[in-house]
Amino acid sequence: MHRTIPIARIVIKFFKVEYYFLIKILEKLIRMAGIINVVNLLRRKWLALALIIVIVGVSLAIFSPNSENAPGKKVKVLATFYPLAYLAEEIGGDRVSVRTLIPYNTEVHSWQPSVSDIIAVSNADIIILNGGGLDWWMEDILNSINTSGKLIVNTTEGLELIPLGNESSEEDGHARIHANYDPHTWLSPYMATRQAEKIFSALVEEDSFGREYYQARFEVLKERLEDLDSKYQEELANKTRDVIIVAHEAYGYLAARYGFRQQGIIGISADQQPSLQSIKDLVDMMTRDNIKVIYLDPAYSDSYVMMLKREVEARTGWNVQVMKLYLALGPVDGRDYIGQMEANLKALKAGLTMP
Ligand SMILES: [Zn+2]
Repeated sequence: MHRTIPIARIVIKFFKVEYYFLIKILEKLIRMAGIINVVNLLRRKWLALALIIVIVGVSLAIFSPNSENAPGKKVKVLATFYPLAYLAEEIGGDRVSVRTLIPYNTEVHSWQPSVSDIIAVSNADIIILNGGGLDWWMEDILNSINTSGKLIVNTTEGLELIPLGNESSEEDGHARIHANYDPHTWLSPYMATRQAEKIFSALVEEDSFGREYYQARFEVLKERLEDLDSKYQEELANKTRDVIIVAHEAYGYLAARYGFRQQGIIGISADQQPSLQSIKDLVDMMTRDNIKVIYLDPAYSDSYVMMLKREVEARTGWNVQVMKLYLALGPVDGRDYIGQMEANLKALKAGLTMP
């Protein structure tokens, strides 16, 4: 399928231009030899054949649905949300055009696709999923469209995911949002590197002419992510604390890798409401353990965080700091994915090394 365009172009070029001159030359040569009748017969047959080939070639050029390998055409990548799109763009560079389904910095757990999103999926060559329950609705989309010729990449397939407890006890449909795993892999540079490896392989599979280009860009990205992982290891090695208070429990992979725990106002799925009891428990915990920092992504509502801050401050007289801890759901504060991961390290170091 990928070769239809170059072949069509060659066919058109050859028979429109070269064939014409070829016939003219042949005609002159044969005329000089004095066998014109044979030439006329031959010429008509050739013309008919040439015409058919040109028509077929032009039709293929116009109606071919899979034309990404033609000069100037890019591999159409669809990523469900920002971090995956970031990785795909870093690796794919000029050879890809990346579209993101979930708008930047919006709630990912409760997001659901519209009809135009389904069309976007059906137009893509490569579909990149996070998996782990984050983009569970993609399964329904893929069942409703023709996926032949498309590469579908679940970037967390085969990775060691953190299983969730009993969160899926709600009614059908909603329970699937929570799935069985913590989906927030991208917030750990280590896990993000594994996800990038899968995206790299998919791009090479789809567009093998770009192998060296993708390879070079992937190496650069991988080195940046591995540097980040080393920095997290080094800078959090001498932490004095082992728990962070967060608005939304999205940092499980980060916490597991670098040796601390998270306690959230809201659990793994950010579309839940906290109970008054859970806020009271957090006030008790912060007061008892002398915790004076609450982490919050700047794109999210701070209402529960401010409630918690006021409660602790009223009880203890401390000044409780609200620090930014990015969820990397879109560029924000002028920072891209890597920039947000770097800022997260600084913020975590500040909170985890407090006396
Ligand atoms: Zn989340």
